This record gives sequence, structure tokens and C-alpha cells, in this order.
Amino acid sequence: MKCNICPHNCNVDRTNNFGVCQAPSNFKIAHIQLHHWEEPCISGINGSGTIFFSHCNLKCVFCQNYEISQQGQGKIISENEFIDLCLKLKNQRAHNINLVTPTCYSHLLIKVLPKIKNKINLPIIWNSNAYEKIETLKQLNGIIDVYLPDFKYFNDDMAISYSGAKNYYKTALSAIKEMLNQVGEVRLDNDGLIQKGVIIRHLVLPNHIEDSKIILKTIKDNFGDKVWVSLMSQYYPTHQAKNFSEINRLLTKKEYEEIKNFYEQLNFSGGYFQELKSANKSYTPNFDPKTLE
Ligand code: SF4
Repeated sequence: MKCNICPHNCNVDRTNNFGVCQAPSNFKIAHIQLHHWEEPCISGINGSGTIFFSHCNLKCVFCQNYEISQQGQGKIISENEFIDLCLKLKNQRAHNINLVTPTCYSHLLIKVLPKIKNKINLPIIWNSNAYEKIETLKQLNGIIDVYLPDFKYFNDDMAISYSGAKNYYKTALSAIKEMLNQVGEVRLDNDGLIQKGVIIRHLVLPNHIEDSKIILKTIKDNFGDKVWVSLMSQYYPTHQAKNFSEINRLLTKKEYEEIKNFYEQLNFSGGYFQELKSANKSYTPNFDPKTLE
């Protein structure tokens, strides 16, 4: 199969070649864990059953998970081993199965998830960067319960410089529209845990507050009260951010207050706003391949 899963359209056979993402044709997983630092309606009390896929179709220079997304840490596993990992998380009383950066493995997930959906009987979360094709997402209709896409940039020059992605804004906006069409508005259970819906994440970058404002306004104008918004201020310079002086620092308190006020004025129907103090490495999981055993 020639891979054209995502907008990079590499058209390579991943069994003997690599595309932009460098992902193999089989599942490659770096880590699983009960994650307690996702949004409260996702982590709940027991934690979210996160499965971190290796490799990514974006090359973000500030990626906090670059060891797995760009350096490719992880282990190739079979479909049955993947099913076992899902069941292991369920047995650990995870509130959901949270697929982190799953896009490059869409071709496998489209086949395996329907086989185990009833057995897992938990919401399945698609936690992606939104640099995705509509035709790929359409194949997930009825399989995914909750979409958790990033919406990273309005300015396409930023997307090219920082993530190596052409036409990011329009691509992500169309992808999120498709996601919302599939799962509808946010629905919580009696314990406040998400069962269906879309929560859009936006990471605020230093020196780019105006871009963040356009993204938030775009979300409000296009989706109104149908989606929740999680505004993240956890940015800290890591990986290659030191090569870009404008993003080689934390957010200032002034930037934080400005975007927080803007977010509050838009009066989204639901969502979260991270505290500035969350900008440190302690919120990033330590990737440990032993979790796959
Ligand atoms: S999933 Fe990977 S190989 Fe396939 S088109 Fe996207 S970047 Fe290229």
C-alpha cells in the first residue's frame, strides 16, 4: 500500500520505505499509561488510558514529546498486542482509551478498533494534531467517540517554519468540521466524564498572541457553542526551539493575562484554561517501553 493517509501525500510503501513521518507500516507504540494530566473530563479520578504512538506527521520544533514523535522511540507491535494494551488499560480502570498522535496508523486503527469496540466499551479518543485528510477521517466515523484535535496556527508561514506543514490552517479547520459532524456536541456522563464530542486544544506560543486570538475567534465563529476549547499555556522551549529566538522562552505574565482575557470574553460553552505554572516538564510523561510489557 502506498501511504497517502495525511496531507503530506508521501505515496510511499511503508513496508520498505519512509515518508515524512518515518512511521513503519505496523503499529509502533512508545508508551502506555493512566494519564492524570489531561483535561478533567478526560482524566477523571482513575486516569485516561493513553497510548502514545511513535512518530508524527508534524515536525514541531518545540515538541515536548520529540523523543517519540521525531526520534522514533518505541516498539513495533502486532495487532493482537495492540488489542492487549487496550484491554490492559481497561482492566486498570481507565475512563477511556486515548490514542495520542494516531494519524499515521489510521489504516490499522480503522480495521482493528471496530473489532474490539464492544469489548472495550469505553469512549475512544482521537488525540491528534488535526493535520489530517477528510477522506481518512471519514473512515473513523462511528468508531471514534471523542475528538481532541490541536488547532495550532492561523499563519501558514508559522506552520511551515515550526512544524513543516503546508496549508495547516485550512486543513485543520476542515478536519475539525468533519470531526464535529461525526460526534456532535460534548456529552458528559453523570460523573462529568466525556462520552462524545470535540475539545479543541490550542497551545499559546510566546510572541504569537495575535495568532492565538485569531484561532480562538475562528473557533467561536465556526463552531459556536458546539465544541469546548482547552487553551494551553504549558509551552516551554525544548527540542529545537532554541534555534528560534522568538519562541525560545516561556510566556510572560502579560501575554498570559492578555490571552486569558480574550478567551474569557469569547464565552465558550465549555473548556479549560491552564494556569501559567503548568509550563514545565513535569507534565510531560517519561516514556518507558516497559509499560508495553
Ligand atoms: S502518514 Fe506518514 S507516510 Fe503517510 S502520507 Fe502522512 S507523513 Fe507520509
